[in-house]
Parts: sequence; structure tokens; C-alpha cells
Amino acid sequence: MKKVDLIVIGAGPAGIGCAVEAKLANKEVLLLEKGGQICQTLMQFYKDGKRVDKAYKGCDGTNHGHIPFEDGTKESTIETFEKALKDNNIEIEFSSEVESVKKDENGFILSTGKGVYQCKNIIVAIGRMGRPNKPDYKLPSSLAKVINYNANSVQSGENILIVGGGNSAAEYAVDLANSNKVCLCYRKDKFTRLNDINLQNINDAVSKGKVELKLGIDIVEVEDENGKVKVKFNDNSSLSYDRLIYAIGGSTPVDFLQKCGINVDEKGVPAINENKESNVKGIFVAGDIATKNGASIVTGLNDAFSIIKTLS
Ligand SMILES: Cc1cc2nc3c(=O)[nH]c(=O)nc-3n(C[C@H](O)[C@H](O)[C@H](O)COP(=O)(O)OP(=O)(O)OC[C@H]3O[C@@H](n4cnc5c(N)ncnc54)[C@H](O)[C@@H]3O)c2cc1C
Repeated sequence: MKKVDLIVIGAGPAGIGCAVEAKLANKEVLLLEKGGQICQTLMQFYKDGKRVDKAYKGCDGTNHGHIPFEDGTKESTIETFEKALKDNNIEIEFSSEVESVKKDENGFILSTGKGVYQCKNIIVAIGRMGRPNKPDYKLPSSLAKVINYNANSVQSGENILIVGGGNSAAEYAVDLANSNKVCLCYRKDKFTRLNDINLQNINDAVSKGKVELKLGIDIVEVEDENGKVKVKFNDNSSLSYDRLIYAIGGSTPVDFLQKCGINVDEKGVPAINENKESNVKGIFVAGDIATKNGASIVTGLNDAFSIIKTLS
């Protein structure tokens, strides 16, 4: 297991700012990014050539951090962040979507599809643009309330199908099996992305008959059968469930915060103190995700500067 002082989740402007400030404060830092490149929000939502302003939408444009971000374009801004990473020799792992964060006596344990990491502090800088992944086939809109991407709406005593082969799917299955009938369906014929604890837990639950497994089976169609979810599988079988939960990657930022144990208000804004530390001591929140409607690049850089000052 890799051990560092600080893990920063999300390589947008705020996360890169945190990593750079941490490095300048002589901290061992690892930056984890779910995409294949930095700054996914800028890459995906800014038009090519877009003008990028320091003072954006009423946010203060005074940059207290060390990354020399100035007014420019989409391209010059991304270049500034690439250069900051390179100049400061920041270790960054791409395609590393953090699925869960657990506290232990030495700090925190994080799991991604790629590995397990231990650290003393975490900064969550995942922005507000994340969305859960959805299947390719059409889902009946009449079943919107019982086809979910998290376990927040589950009542006890339901017959539930969970779809996915990652840590989130396994954790949902094991937790929900305490008060529901649960089947876990994964298109591959074995689990390859589970951490040791989740693999052990799911195997235990299956051997005790608490969770049914459908491995090597995929879903081809979903229908509304009088309010129940009728699922057709690629082995020509079909079954009906009270609820279908997809845990196939991606999550809303608010789901992610809640999975980390961070309290959020009714608008999805995390409860943080004046130092941006959440109710989970040692986990800080920076950038857009710390706000109700998103902020600006400079806001993220200033969050980074002040959090690392608190940690130093
Ligand atoms: C169209 C548009 C134009 C804008 N124009 C400007 C402007 O001119 N000037 C300005 O200052 N601001 C502008 N903004 C706002 C600015 O883009 C945001 O305030 C800024 O990107 C927020 O930075 P962030 O690091 O908090 O989040 P983001 O930039 O959203 O970065 C979050 C990163 O975290 C990653 N991530 C998410 N979940 C996970 C996970 N579970 N595990 C690992 N990684 C994860 C994402 O892939 C992403 O790379 C604009 C926004 C938009 C949408």
C-alpha cells in the first residue's frame, strides 16, 4: 500500500493548486484524477479559444497562491497548470477514480480501481460537474424513482438488483443485504477491481446466502412491469425487482462527499469550517465543490493556499 502525507482528489485548478502548495510546503503529496488528463471541466466545457478571466462571475480575482494564473484562454490556462505540475514535480495518477475513503487509526485509506493508498490528510477537489455513468440501453422514465445510481432511496425489505463490479457495487450489496434481498450482477465472470476488504466481505455474504451473484451476465433490456423493474439478461432469463441500482462508475459530487462521511446541507453544500475542514477531521474540501453554485479558478487556488497553510 502506497503511503503519503496528503492525497488530493481531483486534478482541476483547485486540486493542482493544493498539490503545488503542498509540495512547496515540503509535503509528500499524491494527486489522483479520474480522467485521462488534467482539468476535465476546462477540457470538456470550455470552447476552444475561450477567454478565461481571473475575476470571474463576481469572484475576487486576487490570487494568493503560487501558481501564476493570469487572464488568458482555455489553452493558456491549461498550459499554466501543466507547467505548474511539471515545475513542481508533482506525482499524478490518471484514470484513478476514488471510489471510497475510510478512516483508520493511522489516517485514511483510499481505494481506486487501481490501488489502495494510505495518507494523513485528504483534500477533496472534485468540482461540481461529476455525473454517474449510465448504461447504453434505454431506461423507462416511469421507473425513475426505483432505478438509482446510489443507495440513498432504498427502504428495507426490497428485492434489489445491483449492477457493477467495483468497490461501490460490492459495498452497496453487502450493506443492503442486512435488510433486503440483494442480487449483484457483473458482466465479467470475476471481480478484478475490488480491494481485499470488499472482496472478503462480498465472498462472506455470498457464502452465507445473504447476497446472490450473477457473474458473467449482462443486462440487455429493462422494462416497466406494473411499477416493478423487469430486467432481461443476456442468458435469455428475465426477473423482476423492486429496485435497480447502477454502480458502474462516476458519481455525483454530493454522493461522493456523503460516502466520505462528510455532512452536506439540503443544497448539497458540504459542512466545512473557516479552514475548509469538514466534519471528518483531516478531510478538507477545496474549489467548486466547497460552494453551492461553483466559483472560479482563483477561488480554488486561494482555497489551496489557505488549506496548506492550515496543514503546515
Ligand atoms: C463554461 C465555463 C466557463 C468558465 N469560465 C471561467 C473563467 O473564465 N474564469 C474562471 O475563473 N472560472 C471559470 N469557470 C469556472 C471554473 O472552471 C471552475 O470554478 C473551476 O474549474 C473549478 O475548479 P475545481 O478544481 O474546483 O473543479 P473542476 O475544474 O471541476 O475539477 C475537478 C476535477 O476532479 C476530477 N474528479 C471528479 N471526481 C473525481 C473522483 N471521484 N476521483 C478523482 N478525480 C475526480 C474531475 O475529473 C476534474 O478534473 C467556468 C466554468 C464553466 C463551466
